Amino acid sequence: MNRERSKQLYEESVNYLPGGVNSPVRAYKPYPFFAKKAKGSKIYDVDENEYIDYCLGYGPVVFGHANEQIIKDATNQLKLGTDYGVPSQKELELAQEVVERVPCAEMVRFTNSGTEATMSAIRLARGVTNRKKIIKFEGAYHGAHDAVLVKSGSGAIGKPDSPGIPEESTRNTLLVPFNDEDALTRMINDNKGEIACIIVEPIMGNIGCVPPKDGFLQFLREITEENDIILIFDEVITGFRLSRGGAQEYYGITPDLATFGKIIGGGFPIGAICGRRELMEQFAPSGGIYQAGTFSGNPMSITGGLSAFKILDMKAYKTLHDSGKYLRSGMSDILEKLDINYQINGVESMTQIYFTDVDVYDYKTAQTSDTEGFLKYFHVLLDNGVFIAPSQYECAFLSIQHTKEDIDKTLNAIEIALKKVVKK
Ligand code: PMP
Repeated sequence: MNRERSKQLYEESVNYLPGGVNSPVRAYKPYPFFAKKAKGSKIYDVDENEYIDYCLGYGPVVFGHANEQIIKDATNQLKLGTDYGVPSQKELELAQEVVERVPCAEMVRFTNSGTEATMSAIRLARGVTNRKKIIKFEGAYHGAHDAVLVKSGSGAIGKPDSPGIPEESTRNTLLVPFNDEDALTRMINDNKGEIACIIVEPIMGNIGCVPPKDGFLQFLREITEENDIILIFDEVITGFRLSRGGAQEYYGITPDLATFGKIIGGGFPIGAICGRRELMEQFAPSGGIYQAGTFSGNPMSITGGLSAFKILDMKAYKTLHDSGKYLRSGMSDILEKLDINYQINGVESMTQIYFTDVDVYDYKTAQTSDTEGFLKYFHVLLDNGVFIAPSQYECAFLSIQHTKEDIDKTLNAIEIALKKVVKK
């Protein structure tokens, strides 16, 4: 497959943009393809190659690229202005829609990214409890701000993942393995009365795709209630992907606060925090906990969100769920046929294959994967017209526009890729 123009653009970009990109995961070797346009389930590069897209902007584009409804609503809004700096009715309407859909949501604050949403939710939890410590799970990603950029394997206090983050910033971030009730209980007992919140991705989507074990989210709910700890579901990925009301509706567990991003902007930049009224009212200006943003609640992102909600009805979720099942059952058949013992994890429209024969249920088990093998697999898929995120630790997403034909083509490419890459 010829990607000459992408290569040239990349070589030029590295002189102007650090690493040639604006977010690190995009810079896979030897060079990323440069997008020209995208429509429905497909993305096209500057060399006119077509790919079935399972990256979908890292999750947001669940309604398919250049969706007609979103084009129509956003075009109308463009003509009415893109930034007001005063409230507008659509912000109220989107907040009402979120409250109607999301079990924990009584009030909403819109931000511009998932990073801002989790940063502010953690500040809110610390502010209302007057406690400093937070618990996150190893391998969980909650955005690019200091307090959550720690993974560590030790289950103890974490070291920052990046130079430039003072150890003081992460000293109060405690790490526990996902799906491990005993480790979490110990951590809470060792820090009695000092923990402001637990923040959790209900399905871990940044170490591939790791669902909660049966009862784990219920356990989180109970132990946080017993210890007066605020439970935050980070639904930046799962929100409005897993069901109308996100993972909390899907699993029937209601947290105190939830953070959203990605889908809720209809393809425009956004984030949101929502939760119980008495907590949310502590945000400025009704309360004293500071949270702000020039572009927060801007009419383009809000319009995108309202459009997305028009599209994402029960029928849309059925389509997503059916496609997920079809994809994973096809993948399992291929693994069986080729006698490969790799793990396939997935929930509805989220799927990942792990290049390991170990059952993957947390960060450590995810790390048993052959990541180089996965990268080779990624490249063979790309050469066969299928684009998944280039890392073993991302997740493949489906949109409502992916057809059975798309998935059949994808399964064909997966078989070719596995035959080529996996040495038996
Ligand atoms: N939380 C989770 C679970 C995420 O997956 C991400 C981004 N992938 C974020 C937070 C940060 O969102 P953003 O990139 O919009 O800042």
